[in-house]
Amino acid sequence: MAESIFTRIINKQIPARIAYEDGSYVAIHDINPQAPTHLLIIPKREIATLNDLTPGDGELVGGMFLLAKRLMADLGHTDYRTVFNCGEAAGQSVFHIHLHVLAGRPMAWPPG
Ligand code: AMP
Repeated sequence: MAESIFTRIINKQIPARIAYEDGSYVAIHDINPQAPTHLLIIPKREIATLNDLTPGDGELVGGMFLLAKRLMADLGHTDYRTVFNCGEAAGQSVFHIHLHVLAGRPMAWPPG
């Protein structure tokens, strides 16, 4: 399978605004932000969708939320929204799991 655009960003083959990086994750600013702060937390290991997770991935996915909490705290946000889109009909367009983290404006519910 062709590598995802996020793998190309992780491999520094294409540029992105990187907010955070360690051995397991990269966090980038979304190119089309839906809020004043819109980060994408991406595991470096390519997993296409949430449906492809296995029980052994629990720590990796949990770490995405711990990183969201830390990055939002660093940016001074106590209120924010986290979103995983799973599958095309749910709005997923990049098939490499990523956690959207949105902040800086009031959020409506239900989401569109
Ligand atoms: P989703 O639709 O949930 O798969 O989210 C994919 C997100 O990736 C969208 O919000 C896009 O705006 C964002 N995106 C796509 N390409 C890039 C890129 N090169 N740099 C940063 N964000 C991107």
